[in-house]
Amino acid sequence: MSQHVHVRLNHGLAVSEDGDLIEQSRCRCGATWTRTFQAAEDDPER
Ligand SMILES: [Zn+2]
Repeated sequence: MSQHVHVRLNHGLAVSEDGDLIEQSRCRCGATWTRTFQAAEDDPER
């Protein structure tokens, strides 16, 4: 399995203590990823 291409399956959403949104993904091989979205209060576009 030297050329495994990870497939990120959405594994759910969570909210951190700071109120940020955390998106969790995982591959069938066991690899996991997390993406953090800042809370809307610090939106620089606004
Ligand atoms: Zn994988």
